[in-house]
Amino acid sequence: MEENCIFCKIARGDIPSATLYEDEDLRVILDLGPASKGHALVIPKKHAANLFELPDETAQKAIVVAKRVAAKLKEGLHADGLNLVQNNGAAAGQTVDHFHIHLIPRYEGDTVNVGWTPGELNDADKEEILELFR
Ligand code: AMP
Ligand code: ZN
Repeated sequence: MEENCIFCKIARGDIPSATLYEDEDLRVILDLGPASKGHALVIPKKHAANLFELPDETAQKAIVVAKRVAAKLKEGLHADGLNLVQNNGAAAGQTVDHFHIHLIPRYEGDTVNVGWTPGELNDADKEEILELFR
């Protein structure tokens, strides 16, 4: 529990939320500023600022819960698709520094924007990146 972390307080139940699922490790709530109908957040109860601080065990549990809740949202709301979005760092759009996974149901013709303009993979970048993993 981090002092002044809103998602710690929500995950622990100190601040009420529209909870879709809860277990001893995770809470799934409706986002208060939804990108689309059904936009939900998977939030671990134990504070981790981002993906890089998240214990492997919590990461495993979070993705399984995300999968289950995503399936129920998609079916129950008759969505046509669904994005999982997970932001790390302000440069990546993270505004709440407590790890969370967005579940964003998508509907044909909606105006949700989670896209980018494709670039082109150049040889120098490709070599530099492949070298990191050799
Ligand atoms: P991110 O930009 O990835 O850090 O996402 C933070 C998300 O948390 C945004 O989609 C906000 O709408 C949402 N959010 C912030 N405060 C609350 C809150 N008190 N209850 C529910 N959702 C929240
Ligand atoms: Zn927190």
